[in-house]
Amino acid sequence: MLSWGQKRGTSEHGAKLETPLQGPKQHCWFVWDPVGIVCAMATWALVVSAAWVLIRDLLIPSNNIFYAVANCVVFHLLAFLALMSHLRTMLTDPGSVPLGNPPGPDTVSYCALCLSAVPERTYHCIICGRCIRKNDHHCPWVNNCVGEDNQKHFLLFTLYVGLTSAHVLLLLGIPILRSHAQGEWNASSTVSPPSPILFLSLLALMGLLLAFVMFCIQLCTIFRDKTTTEMLYQNKHSQGRRSMWANIKAICGPRISLAWLSPFHSPERHKASERHDTA
Ligand SMILES: [Zn+2]
Ligand SMILES: [Zn+2]
Repeated sequence: MLSWGQKRGTSEHGAKLETPLQGPKQHCWFVWDPVGIVCAMATWALVVSAAWVLIRDLLIPSNNIFYAVANCVVFHLLAFLALMSHLRTMLTDPGSVPLGNPPGPDTVSYCALCLSAVPERTYHCIICGRCIRKNDHHCPWVNNCVGEDNQKHFLLFTLYVGLTSAHVLLLLGIPILRSHAQGEWNASSTVSPPSPILFLSLLALMGLLLAFVMFCIQLCTIFRDKTTTEMLYQNKHSQGRRSMWANIKAICGPRISLAWLSPFHSPERHKASERHDTA
C-alpha cells in the first residue's frame, strides 16, 4: 500500500477495475473462493451431523421423553443461532472500500492492488480482492474477512459454537460422572464408546476449544480497539482512545439489549455502510 501522495490522480482508472472474486454491481456480498466455500459447507455439515448423532445415539436411547425433548430444543436453538451468525458473517460486507474509491477527507493512503484511496486502518485482502476497513483477518470457515461491519456476527458465531459444544459435552459427561458417583466404575473399568459417540465427543471438544480461543481473541481485540494483525505485528494504534465499554458498544450497538445476542440485528453503523457492498 502506497501513500496517497504517491498515487494521487490514478483512481479514475481504478474505477473500472473488477476482480475475479467480486463481480460488478453486486447486491449480495459473497466471496467466490473455492477453499472458503468448502470450509463454510464443512462447518454446516459438522453441525448437522452432530445433531443427527446426538438425537439418534444419545437422546432417543435415553428413554426419557422430557430429557430428550428439552435437550433437543436447547441444542437446536443454540445450533440455529450459531448457523445464522455464520451465515450473517459470510454474507455481510465486512467493510469493503469500493474499487477505485476516489480520495476523500479520511483518505490516508492508496492501495496499489485495488487502486483505491483508503482510510486509516484499512487492509487489503488478497482473497476478497478488496481493501477492508478494520480488517481483522480472513477466516476460511466463514469464507469472508472479519471487519468492522461483520465483527459482531463473527463474535456471536464463536459464542454460539462454544455454547453448543459445551452443551453436547455436558450431555456426554453427566451420565459418566453420575455412574462414577454411584460406584459403577472401579479401577479395572474400561471405556469403549461407539464410534458415533466418539466422533461427537471429539467434535464437541474441538468446537469448544477453537470457539473459546477465537471468542477470547475477538473480545480482546474489541476491548483494545485493535485488529488481530495490529495486536500481533504493529503498535501504531494507541490504546485508550475509548473505554473498553465504548469499544464493545461500537461493535454491538449503542445500547445494551438482547439485540446484542441476535445474529439478525445489525448495529446502526453497519446499516449506514451497507451501501458500500454494491460496489
Ligand atoms: Zn486494496
Ligand atoms: Zn478477505
